[in-house]
This record gives sequence, structure tokens and C-alpha cells, in this order.
Amino acid sequence: MKYAQHISELVGNTPLVRLSTVTRGLAATVLVKVEYLNPGGSVKDRIALKMIEAAEASGELAPGGTIVEPTSGNTGVGLALVAQRKGYRCVFVCPDKVSQDKRDVLTAYGAEVVVTATAVAPDHPDSYYSVSDRLVAEIEGGWKPNQYANVNGPASHYETTGPEIWADTDGTLTHFVAGVGTGGTITGTGRFLKDASAARAGGRVRIVGADPAGSVYSGGDGRPYLVEGVGEDFWPTAYDPAVPDEILAVSDADSFEMTRRLAREEGLLVGGSSGMAVVAALRLAATLESADPAAAAAAVIVVLLPDGGRGYLSKIFSDPWMRSYGFLSSGDGASVADVLR
Ligand code: PMP
Repeated sequence: MKYAQHISELVGNTPLVRLSTVTRGLAATVLVKVEYLNPGGSVKDRIALKMIEAAEASGELAPGGTIVEPTSGNTGVGLALVAQRKGYRCVFVCPDKVSQDKRDVLTAYGAEVVVTATAVAPDHPDSYYSVSDRLVAEIEGGWKPNQYANVNGPASHYETTGPEIWADTDGTLTHFVAGVGTGGTITGTGRFLKDASAARAGGRVRIVGADPAGSVYSGGDGRPYLVEGVGEDFWPTAYDPAVPDEILAVSDADSFEMTRRLAREEGLLVGGSSGMAVVAALRLAATLESADPAAAAAAVIVVLLPDGGRGYLSKIFSDPWMRSYGFLSSGDGASVADVLR
């Protein structure tokens, strides 16, 4: 018989898939790492597991404890999965821009959710950072993983995501592209891939961050953007700015258009930060090609897709929602109903 003792044992070991349609005309091989195949549906299962295990080992999280975390949903799902097995209570704090669907998922896993306003500064008492600090101080046995500053976030990617990519590409990848939120994914995975490739003949893997236009990582001032889970208005310590070689800014419009194409053309129902990362990867491939066609043909670009698209059906995949922000060009998304009207 082959089975896991618990669903949380199945975190990681996600596959790589080659993109074939959205890459038409580009010589580079573009492979996506499909993180929605994790048990909680996102890359964040990896950090949840590692942060909880490390906190148990250090004594910060004791039996009967409560996990309090500001999370846009995915980290919450990962934490809730692992917490359930180990008997911890979970209280999550979400900004109000996070979709109702995502919040409902957290409560379905048995977590409690507190919603805060998006349009306030991080140091404002009503920001989701401040509210979670207050809750963790007030709740007995409360522990805040603090994914923005917890070294075990990047460490989980150094120990799992990086080695998986290295093994699955037989150490031949040339570029790694990931969106930057807390920065844990790009820091841990990128650091591993740079270390692993340090001595090889072809030179180090180049690490490329993707960031919503307006966020601090690509030189913005933190002005609002709609893509969820990536971009920041401050510099988290989980992010090491020395790891990425380059950061590419991508607009909401381009991110969402690519997200829809990935579902329709590649069979990948993913979230907006995945579309954003793929746009950055395709721009990178096009730039390589114009600089050095031979190098572009030999390039193996791995792009991490953080989560699935089901949490965004009423947003990115809704034509009225897209039109309300002026995102759909005329004719795009036309259905039989539109034609018959
Ligand atoms: N995309 C989504 C949907 C996310 O939830 C996150 C996590 N905030 C990211 C991308 C970015 O990952 P990281 O925090 O590791 O930079």
C-alpha cells in the first residue's frame, strides 16, 4: 500500500511543465514550476511547514498554542493544514483587497479571519501588521510566524524548492524567475541555485525577480496595484536584495492578460502573480534573443507559479470585473452570448 499519514506530508516535489503556446516565436525553453499542486494549493505550504517545525523545536510554539499571522490567504492555508494536524488554533489577519473566496477558504479549514483596511500605512494602528501584533500580544500562547522576517521562509526554499529545480533540470537551468512578495521564494531558491551553479562551466544561474509596477522592489513608492501576494510598500527582512540579479516591473494589465492566457492556452488555471512572473520570463527571453540568439536558444528559464486560479474567478477571470478596471481590450473575452446579442 502506498499512502501518506497526513496530507501535510505531501508538501513540495511539484513538477516542471514546459510552456508551448504563450512562448511561440521565442527560442528559449520556458519551464513553469506548478506550486498549486501543493496540498494547500500554493507555494506557501513549504514555508508554513518549516516555520511551524522550527518554532516547535525552539519552544516558541507550545502545545495548545495559537498561530497569529497577517496573510493574504495562501500562507494561512499552509499554516492551517499543519496546525490542524498538530492541534493549534489559527487566527489570520487579511487586508480587505483579498478576495472573499480566499477568506472563505481559511474559515473552511477551521481558522478565524480578521479583515483590515488596505489603504493605510504599515505603521498605522489599523494596518494588518499592527492588528496582528496586537492580537498576538493579547492571546495567551500566541505565536506569530512573521513570514516577512522569519528566516525559515527562505530556508524552506533553500532546502526544497531550489534542490527540486536543480535536480529536475539536471543542473542545466540558466535563469530562475519568481515574483517577490515577502521575498522568501526568490531569496531561498535563488541562493540555492546560485550556490549549486557556482562551480559549473556555464556560469551561475541568473536570478530574476518579477514585481508589480508601483512596488518598492522595482523602484516604486508602494502605490496600490491589484495583483495579489506580490509587491510591497516596505522592505521585509525575508528578502535579500543581493540575491536577484535583476527585477522586472510588470503592470496589472499585462499580468492579468497573461493569467487568462495561461488558463485558456496552456491549461494552467493560476493566480495573477503567476501571470506576472510569466510576463517577466517572456520579456527576459525576448531580451536574450535580441542580444544573443544562440544563447537564447540554449537558455532554460524556470518560472515559479505560486498559486492556482480558483481564488480569482470573480476577479481576473470575470469579464465585468476586468472591464471595470479597463483591462479587457475590445473583443477579448467575447463569448457566444456577446456575439448573439
Ligand atoms: N504569489 C502569491 C499568490 C503569494 O501569495 C505570494 C506570497 N506572498 C507570492 C506570490 C510571493 O512569494 P514570496 O512571499 O515568497 O516572495
